[in-house]
Amino acid sequence: MDATRYYHPSGTAPIGGILTTVLIGVPAAFVIGGAYGAIAYYNPFIYINCLGILVAGGACGFVVRKGLLIGRVRSRSMANSLALFVGCVGLYASWLAYFMAMLGGVLFVGPFAIWSLVVAVGAEGVWEIFGAAPSGWVLYLIWLIEAAGLVLFAILVAVGEETPYCEHCQEWTTELESAIPLPYREIEKFRAALEAEKYGGLVKQIGEPVDSNHHLTATIKTCPKCSESNYLAIHELTLKEDAEDSETSLQIGWLIINEAVVERVQQRVSSSGRNAIKDSLNE
Ligand SMILES: [Zn+2]
Repeated sequence: MDATRYYHPSGTAPIGGILTTVLIGVPAAFVIGGAYGAIAYYNPFIYINCLGILVAGGACGFVVRKGLLIGRVRSRSMANSLALFVGCVGLYASWLAYFMAMLGGVLFVGPFAIWSLVVAVGAEGVWEIFGAAPSGWVLYLIWLIEAAGLVLFAILVAVGEETPYCEHCQEWTTELESAIPLPYREIEKFRAALEAEKYGGLVKQIGEPVDSNHHLTATIKTCPKCSESNYLAIHELTLKEDAEDSETSLQIGWLIINEAVVERVQQRVSSSGRNAIKDSLNE
């Protein structure tokens, strides 16, 4: 893989952007974590709690992602740190709400006091599962997995798939062409061709019939202000066995392309007919 052919974030993290993310993320994490903590206390179904961890983590991550975009943060390590921090605030809020529900009153304690409360309560055990009441290390382990799930999911959603940024105009790129279906082909060969600036195969395949269960898609993001920042991504789409859910994974991207390539792709899309391309999925 030729790294120079791809977008790399500049690593810039404006102070204002960091503050924006924290100012949006922390209150949101209190609301989200608090709601999850209360639900976890009142709800006896472990499956709902497991789902709740992902929903709470995902919601915290979503808010951080918004903050990073608004605040123009282009540093991967800063994005990870902010998501970790907000995820931990969400976790703290969930325990605060959990203990408030347990005590039936308002509780003002800091993160360290919460920590000792968790340790003390865990030693006794608080609930039963499948007829057993875990306590001590078993319970600590369950809580550790729960905490890790919430925080990691927050990071995963917050950082997620990168959007290229135009440093020249100080703007995020926006989607010009989204998810154009392409027949599946061997990724490594496709990557080599694209890295070598051979776009003939890509352009030719637009509009060809596609297996709707398994195919590739092409997406182009460009700067809304200039013609200097143009990027291409190839995703692989696989329909899962139950045929209700599909999995999309980034295979190639974000590849730096020039304006001429963007125009070639757009011409091909319009000459093949946008609707015909959508219909090619159902053949
Ligand atoms: Zn630009």
